[in-house]
Amino acid sequence: MSESDTSVSSSLNFKTRLLHSGKAPAYTGGTAVNPPIVRASTVLFADTAQQREMRGLRSHERVFSYGARGTPTAFALEDAVSELEGAHRTRLLPTGLAAIGMALLSYLKPGDHVLVTDSAYQPVRHLAQQFLRPYGIEYTFFAADGSDAEAKMRPNTRMLYAECPGSLVYEMCDLPALAAMAHARGALVVVDSTWGSGVQYRPLALGADVSIMAATKYLSGHSDVMMGTVATTRDAWEPLAERCDAFGMTVSPDDAWLVLRGLRSLSARLRMHEEHALQVAHWLEAHPAVRTVFCPALPAHPGHALWRRDCEGTNGLVSFELAPGTAPETVDRLIDGLQLFGLGASWGGYESLVTSAHMTQARSVTDWSARGPVVRLHIGLEDPRDLIADLDQAFGCLD
Ligand SMILES: *Cc1c(COP(=O)(O)O)cnc(C)c1O
Repeated sequence: MSESDTSVSSSLNFKTRLLHSGKAPAYTGGTAVNPPIVRASTVLFADTAQQREMRGLRSHERVFSYGARGTPTAFALEDAVSELEGAHRTRLLPTGLAAIGMALLSYLKPGDHVLVTDSAYQPVRHLAQQFLRPYGIEYTFFAADGSDAEAKMRPNTRMLYAECPGSLVYEMCDLPALAAMAHARGALVVVDSTWGSGVQYRPLALGADVSIMAATKYLSGHSDVMMGTVATTRDAWEPLAERCDAFGMTVSPDDAWLVLRGLRSLSARLRMHEEHALQVAHWLEAHPAVRTVFCPALPAHPGHALWRRDCEGTNGLVSFELAPGTAPETVDRLIDGLQLFGLGASWGGYESLVTSAHMTQARSVTDWSARGPVVRLHIGLEDPRDLIADLDQAFGCLD
């Protein structure tokens, strides 16, 4: 059977011609800038020999054999992410959280122990409780700066799970040192690098085996797609690929295409987010109602030296702490008073967002109970003068 014919035999009946015409249009001309969106469940083969060959290859090589294993649109995005991450290969998952879950599932088994950073994206705590514990995988949280990680290693520790810079207040750890320590004890190093977007922090180059990103954030960049990526070194690839295939993990080609389009402007957007975020951060640092500004690019940030060593710039995330004892209603009034900042979870789109960070729930190794409430801003591509004026009027309403 061949589907490459451009015209359908006129001897066929109308209903049949309707189904078989227009499938492979012939045209002369150039090529589009962007790869096409290939939507598929069934993939057709030329003959039984090719089908057999592809089935034989697909557990080791990326071949287009069935929609559940990805289509060429997803493959294009996988390649772009591998390039960003400096990875052997990449798998795409429906959300960033699914990417984290699949990475845990790929490399851990009952009886193993995993060290998880205290600065992890908060749903990872829920995932640990809901999945790791019932499946007999032990876990311990280690300090976000990595200082107690070595002391918390056990003989059965198979994974060190880091997130650097950390969620909400952007703690830095010395990833090359942690990776050397973990590898010497036979543990894999997995890093949530959503903050770094493959541009501003690159865990595989710093010694990690696996790097995870929520492409939902800066890679897509427009607050309209959910996706996660897991990129690995050559040695770490097989378990991930096998698990993703076993669980039928794939993404919509339309979503892959949107993320691929977002990627094209990633470095330009990040430069602008950085520039705007730093202006807002400096303004916040000078504000009497602000106790601490969290942004690793600020010299006062505890992770600043590591940021200078390991990061290429900073993104649009800036958090700040109000005075200890500030009433929750005051925080609500501040947030509700903002006109240009959307109130919502996630970040990484072109627009500014605000949300309150519940640090006492988000950390268990570090005690936040004596500190003031923390508000997280995502600084978007708006004119920063307008954002600062908006913050100014919202703070002004608290007096
Ligand atoms: C948002 C986020 C995730 C989860 O991504 P989703 O696509 O929303 O599931 C994971 N890690 C970090 C650090 C994040 O900020």
